[in-house]
Amino acid sequence: MIITMKKQTPKEEIDALMSRLDAKGLRIHSSIGENYNVFGLVGDTSVIDPKQIEANPYVESVVRVAAPYKKANRLFHPEDTIVNIGGIPIGGKEDLVVIGGPCSIEGKESTVAIAKAVKEAGGCMLRGGAYKPRTSPYAFQGMGTEGILAMVEARKETGLPIVSELMSTDKLDEFVEYVDCIQIGARNMQNFDLLKAVGKVQTPVLLKRGLANTIEEWIMAAEYIMSEGNQNVIFCERGIRTFEKYTRNTLDLSVIPIIKEKTHLPIIIDPSHATGDWKLVESMSLAAIAAGADGLIIEVHENPECAWSDGAQSLKPNRFAEVIEKGRTIAQVIGRGIV
Ligand code: PEP
Ligand code: MN
Repeated sequence: MIITMKKQTPKEEIDALMSRLDAKGLRIHSSIGENYNVFGLVGDTSVIDPKQIEANPYVESVVRVAAPYKKANRLFHPEDTIVNIGGIPIGGKEDLVVIGGPCSIEGKESTVAIAKAVKEAGGCMLRGGAYKPRTSPYAFQGMGTEGILAMVEARKETGLPIVSELMSTDKLDEFVEYVDCIQIGARNMQNFDLLKAVGKVQTPVLLKRGLANTIEEWIMAAEYIMSEGNQNVIFCERGIRTFEKYTRNTLDLSVIPIIKEKTHLPIIIDPSHATGDWKLVESMSLAAIAAGADGLIIEVHENPECAWSDGAQSLKPNRFAEVIEKGRTIAQVIGRGIV
């Protein structure tokens, strides 16, 4: 971190700031120039809030040189992290995973049926929401525990590991007991208590990007989880809010190489929530594979017109199978496969 102070700064102001930084365990290299005084801080600057230093009227600027995240940072962990979900590895050079299933769990029978269809189509994990973060309080809120148990039944019948969204810390025990991967939804990406809570368990976490969050905020959310002890974090890009209304969100595929450069964690793409339109899911899935994603999470429903939520973006099982089939060809070109 580099702090630049104005030339006319009184010596006692400089000394006061330096002793505060020294107390934080940082070493300071000073350079007193013609027009500015420049201080280079060496050590763990993640303990410092640049904005707080900028509150000092004698400070001209504070520039962060190192990223504020440590655990997720590839600099300190050059090799790819492979996260294991129910025996299936995700990340590195491993084959891609394709996760499929309904937005909302709608009952035991339909969940078992869709799990069989997902497996038959070539999917390797089942997704399904039992606790739903709906924009309207009057919309269906999810089946709760009954929905989770329907997924457990589907896993028993098909062997597919299960992924579901956790919305509040009071259901954490239920998720640790029953699910193979905890999804943190876009709306909870900065629910810091929830992030800390899932950081204290070892169940893998699928961390969706917030609706309007920067890449750095997203990585810092992963850092919250990892700093509590859970290193099993997978990023999931699901589109961000832009001025564009044609699609539900704007899919930011550039995050794939960026996340891979900045961090050592896997990243998968959710083309369903990113586009909101089943007709766009195939092309965006293939593009995500070509761009180096470690997997896809796609909403699949046997009868999308009657789905309890997100039918417009859900694929029927036969179309889901086609995406996987075409995806295999693209994956092969970049030297990977699909589980
Ligand atoms: C979902 O996966 O059904 C969901 C609500 O996703 P997101 O948090 O990305 O909106
Ligand atoms: Mn959904």
